[in-house]
Amino acid sequence: MQLLLDLHPDQYPLDGFRRRQLLEWVFVQGVGTFDAMTNLPADVRADLAARFTMNPFREIETVRSADGSVKYLFTLHDGRQMEAVYMPYLDRKTICVSTMVGCPAKCAFCATGAMGFGRNLTPGEIVGQILAVAGGEGLAPRELRNLVFMGMGEPLLNYDHTMQAARILLHPQALGMSKRRVTLSTVGLPKGIRRLAAEDDLGIKLAISLHAPDEETRQRIIPTGHRNSIAEIMASAREYQAVTGRRVTFEYSMLRGVNDHLWQAEELAGLLRGLVSHVNLIPMNPWDGSGFESSTEEEIQAFYDALEARGVDVSVRRSRGKDAGAACGQLALKRPGAAAGAPA
Ligand code: SAH
Repeated sequence: MQLLLDLHPDQYPLDGFRRRQLLEWVFVQGVGTFDAMTNLPADVRADLAARFTMNPFREIETVRSADGSVKYLFTLHDGRQMEAVYMPYLDRKTICVSTMVGCPAKCAFCATGAMGFGRNLTPGEIVGQILAVAGGEGLAPRELRNLVFMGMGEPLLNYDHTMQAARILLHPQALGMSKRRVTLSTVGLPKGIRRLAAEDDLGIKLAISLHAPDEETRQRIIPTGHRNSIAEIMASAREYQAVTGRRVTFEYSMLRGVNDHLWQAEELAGLLRGLVSHVNLIPMNPWDGSGFESSTEEEIQAFYDALEARGVDVSVRRSRGKDAGAACGQLALKRPGAAAGAPA
């Protein structure tokens, strides 16, 4: 049986008017069964139900944080697990989705990196996170207007499925999201960044996890980083900008005594010269056994000031969902006895 959500809207199994009805049920009404699609004839519904499944998940658990964000833990049909995070903030509702079970990038400060790579998610398993979170929060799917590919996994290493998911998000008859409100975050893979630049119908935003301006520090905290030098990453970011005309965001998790020295702010400012960019400083979110701690508020402020003084556009990311283990870099499964990322 095929997962209906894996399909691009143009490939949906009905034609014309009926297809629009089906898409409306799935993406506007957010219903989870064919049975509920009451304006489709019973034989059409039965035929769909015989060929397609609607739900990518076997089980969904939630952990609510005091700040209002909610971690969604999904068990897939093969028993593997991954997570999404819902972040309501004032009138802005954002969802952070996963593209993989686990992650091969192994960033030393990230709990998902420590669990290793499980498998790629399918497009429907990515899109399904949005529908499930909307359902869980009592929202219509289209009320979730901001999306970041910043959950588990490296989206550019699950390239085709992530692009298919993005096209479903943006499609006017599916979720109809604005490309300006969708951001893909990557550990920094020049080939993937160039490929993304060439997807000219897409135009989603790009964030690059740089985390250090010098090779020595970057290789220490991103051990797979040696495959792509900082110079190559920056060159691909420049190309991306030349092709798309878009600002590029650089993420920088603040690790105390590791990448928060003022000379590193100076070097970072140097790297960004001539590029229209934004730097997002992320206080490091702790997890058991990470071996790193966050820079203090004062240290982050000093780093911020040093960047700002050099003309860098910079902000500090509010940390959300920390008490629910839902903040950046805390997405990992705590299931005693189960090997990380292995099927249950
Ligand atoms: N694979 C993508 C998405 C990762 S998660 C990427 O590498 O960009 C989104 C951001 O959170 C990345 O910048 C990641 O480096 C950062 N991050 C990971 N662990 C963190 C932690 N413990 N504290 C703060 N930020 C963290």
